[in-house]
Amino acid sequence: MKHLLLRSFLPSGLLVSVLILSGCQATRELSATSKPTAVGDAKPPTKESQAAMTPQQAVSALKAGNERFVSGRPRSRNSLADVKATASGQYPFAVVLSCLDSRVPIELVLDQGIGDVFSARVAGNVLEEDVLGSMEFGCKAAGAKLIAVIGHSNCGAVKGAIDNVELGNLTALLSRIKPAIGQVPGDSQPRTSKNLEFVDHVAEANVRLVMEQIRERSPVLREMLDKGQIGLLAGMYDLSTGRIRFFE
Ligand SMILES: [Zn+2]
Repeated sequence: MKHLLLRSFLPSGLLVSVLILSGCQATRELSATSKPTAVGDAKPPTKESQAAMTPQQAVSALKAGNERFVSGRPRSRNSLADVKATASGQYPFAVVLSCLDSRVPIELVLDQGIGDVFSARVAGNVLEEDVLGSMEFGCKAAGAKLIAVIGHSNCGAVKGAIDNVELGNLTALLSRIKPAIGQVPGDSQPRTSKNLEFVDHVAEANVRLVMEQIRERSPVLREMLDKGQIGLLAGMYDLSTGRIRFFE
């Protein structure tokens, strides 16, 4: 099964390299095609707009963003203007943890632009100390009002955990997903990576476990959640439709 998992992961790694290598080119194209910002265009959050936003409004903003993406009507942006507007400070309204998968570029599928969200991406959207620390930075130090954990269908990392794949440092990463396998009821059969329904059940269980772990493992975030200063949102992205099914 190792070769199956590698096939899922390698394109992502290659994509990252290509994106890094083509970064300058992308900037030139952006410069050539960007249109002036019109009234009503999306703009990055400001200190004032971030402070005024409630956790529930942040939830609504992410839900509405995915609706716009799915309906093919993303908001127009002037990304270079946004770069300039955010150069001296950032006031994102949410921290989003999602998978490394190249098919889930989280800002795109949530129709968010530069300065809108802190994005933490790691295979299988697993929670480890550095991600938790990043969430604490995003919320406690930088004022974000929401933590969102977004898993997805047909996840290669989840399949790897189910298949007990062992590969270098990936072995430890996949071990973080394994507790989710036991959370899926026994009547979901067969319990293999070939059963995509089972794979998606495990992926959702993993998202739910991560949500619990955020509360359990971070006294900083737990206190903010208990005081209603931040919210917690979860969802599953469907690779075949682009839609996120949210659950809180
Ligand atoms: Zn994945």
